[in-house]
Amino acid sequence: MIYLDHAAATPVSRKVLQAMEPYSTREFFNPSAAYLPAKKVAADYETAKGVIAHAIGAKGTDIVITGGATEANNLAFTVAAQRNHGKGEVLYLETEHDSVRAVAQQHGGRAIKVLPSGLINLEDLKAKITDDIILISVSLANNELGTIQPLAEIGSLVREIRIDRLKRGIKIPIYLHSDASQALNLLDINVARLGVDMLTLNAAKVYGPKGVGALYVAHDVKLSPLTMGGGQEKGLRAGTENVPGVIGFATAIKEAKEHLNGNRKKYKRFKQILLSELQGYELINKKHTLDNFIVLCYNGIDAERLIYLLEEKEIYVATGAACAASKGQKSHVLTAIGLSDSQIAGSLRLTLGETNTEEQIHEAAQIINEVVTTERERIND
Ligand code: PLP
Repeated sequence: MIYLDHAAATPVSRKVLQAMEPYSTREFFNPSAAYLPAKKVAADYETAKGVIAHAIGAKGTDIVITGGATEANNLAFTVAAQRNHGKGEVLYLETEHDSVRAVAQQHGGRAIKVLPSGLINLEDLKAKITDDIILISVSLANNELGTIQPLAEIGSLVREIRIDRLKRGIKIPIYLHSDASQALNLLDINVARLGVDMLTLNAAKVYGPKGVGALYVAHDVKLSPLTMGGGQEKGLRAGTENVPGVIGFATAIKEAKEHLNGNRKKYKRFKQILLSELQGYELINKKHTLDNFIVLCYNGIDAERLIYLLEEKEIYVATGAACAASKGQKSHVLTAIGLSDSQIAGSLRLTLGETNTEEQIHEAAQIINEVVTTERERIND
């Protein structure tokens, strides 16, 4: 098998599995229990949170563990709940993942436009930040194109607005949230440098377990509980802690940091190979993208069919976000960057990862070329 869909899911690494195993067997105790072995588990859990936080330049106490990135994104938007009587007090980038779009739309949020490059349209953002805006959500890297947004620039804009509001005696706070699910193992992330108040992390994209995520929350941000019950996670996400999951996440994030530069170099090389050996495509995500993302358009061809034809050869690729694809919806991301319907229909997303070898990349290029040629011949017949 040649797996080229690492943006959808990553296999749990052996090291991560090994680290998790004792916490499902010997060290299975509930961290809230009163006896000593449980207290040790609670301490290990806190240490793991510290490791996750450290990877983004934060402290363990600034992190809320969630059941994945969807939950973390939903939790971030509770900041608007306190004031959101009217609605319309949140802004989100139009190319965000559905877990941001859906909750933003529920709050009556307005979408910020992107440029044809996939980058945020800063002029549109500035025009939409009125005095009642409390939250702006812009992902660090897009999950369909890999586009890396200029978060630090947006962060300084938000800081300027904060100062201006203070000067004018406006008490409404303004926060910046970013979904960094796709970027965690490809960029060196630091919350202070980015100027974000909240940041979503996802273990499932970094060779950690599925259903484990985290939200970094700066001290002054007041959120409302996502779930109510035993008061875990500072009362924001009640429920017995997923100790093995969090231990696994910490191990995965440590590995990701260690391999960051090596992997980036490797993916850059693999990308070059694919771009030079593949034939008859148009590259969609030309600039400002993560090193492991390649979005190609085979105009006139149905990419959905390519997926099935490639699957027969044990090559796994995608047309866009896995969840949108499974519902047969047209990609809102490719629409937002101005692609025509036929370009969208012919677009294929390849995302590289740790399962790939150079040999596989040459083989994938050759097989994709063959499949595309056969498909073009079939259409022209
Ligand atoms: N945000 C982004 C950018 C993603 O790529 C994904 C996963 O596909 C999510 C959020 C949702 O993550 P999960 O399904 O683990 O909650």
